[in-house]
Amino acid sequence: MEETVIKSTGTINPNLTNTGEESYSGLNLSIKRNAPGYFTRIFIRIWVNFHIAILALRAYASLKKTKIALGGLQEFKRKAFGKNGRRKFSVKNNQYWFGLYVPPFPSRNFDRLILTELNRYVPHSLPINAYQQVNFAITTKCPMRCEHCFEWDNLNLRETFSLSQLQEIVKKLQNNGLGHISLSGGEPLVRFEDMLELIKSGEKSTEWWVLTSGFNLTDQKAIQLKKAGATGIVISLDHHDPEINNKFRGHKDAFGHAVRAAEATVKAGLSLAISVCVTRENANREFLMNHTTLCESLGADFIQWLEPRAEGHFRDKEVMLQPDQITILEELFVEFNHDPKNNHFPPVMYHGYHQRRVGCMSGGKFSFYVDALGMVHSCPFCHSSDFKITDWLEIPKIGRKEITACKEI
Ligand code: SF4
Repeated sequence: MEETVIKSTGTINPNLTNTGEESYSGLNLSIKRNAPGYFTRIFIRIWVNFHIAILALRAYASLKKTKIALGGLQEFKRKAFGKNGRRKFSVKNNQYWFGLYVPPFPSRNFDRLILTELNRYVPHSLPINAYQQVNFAITTKCPMRCEHCFEWDNLNLRETFSLSQLQEIVKKLQNNGLGHISLSGGEPLVRFEDMLELIKSGEKSTEWWVLTSGFNLTDQKAIQLKKAGATGIVISLDHHDPEINNKFRGHKDAFGHAVRAAEATVKAGLSLAISVCVTRENANREFLMNHTTLCESLGADFIQWLEPRAEGHFRDKEVMLQPDQITILEELFVEFNHDPKNNHFPPVMYHGYHQRRVGCMSGGKFSFYVDALGMVHSCPFCHSSDFKITDWLEIPKIGRKEITACKEI
């Protein structure tokens, strides 16, 4: 695979220049991303498809069943992702990433995910996951005051779990086959030492991600996380304009923290994803082009677009995107991911796009959320508060029917 040095393109904010070395509020940004070339993309797709076919044959030992299961999987991908189900991917540490919540290929977790998905179409007897991913809020503490915070009611209360309780919960989750654990909060970096210990003591094959504002993530901390076994960091950066971003996140240097954290993440060799809540004010082409260009310049491996929901600090507010705004996001999502002229941009993840085509892929299917009080929800945006995680884990085998899926799409 080739390492490419890419310059920004498209209509961009006047604050950003096309020099390759950008000065942004005193911060130096160099535009650099591992973008797979044409032949790499074709080769990897053939390899992955062949690998999946072999897995299916192993699971069924029957050509007929293999064909039905692979057909079901292909049909789902076509509906959920458009363009024949093809997905843009990122390359990191010699592994290929087809999504922020998809384990890297090749890996044991990738195989487990495929076997779990195949099992939906034609059951088989190989091991599968009850759930693929958990987003676990390990602290209530946070120095920010974000306008869209879904943990608003729980912020800065007493911690719910001690380190040893967190370790016990994580162990049980891993025993249930969870291969992807995202640690959030509050701000998980405020509980850095405990988080480090949690990752160190956990199962090594787990993909560990930290969902953060980037608060005080220094080069040294990023290296410590990498050494402990972390896979990547998802940094929230909600505007390319530092002032607007800081106001939205209720912190005078939120932008600086996010950008410095992004640099430290890339330097440490961790994967970097940048997440943005696309509000009504920002759901337009200009904003998304500027923001995506900034993410690219920071070396992001993925960009995640979230739609605002009337939950937490946004509760009872008119924040949901309008239909014409959703159309813009969906068109751009396809353009960024499939138009060859945008190959240099990192893959964009946009859950709303898939949800509107195949329903909620979170609670009851793929993943769930544990809030800072230890309550289990379908996802951070739909607060169903179904169980306390510690009670739920007492059930011998956690089932997939017990979490209420979001009603609103
Ligand atoms: S959204 Fe995250 S960073 Fe912002 S206040 Fe809430 S917990 Fe803190």
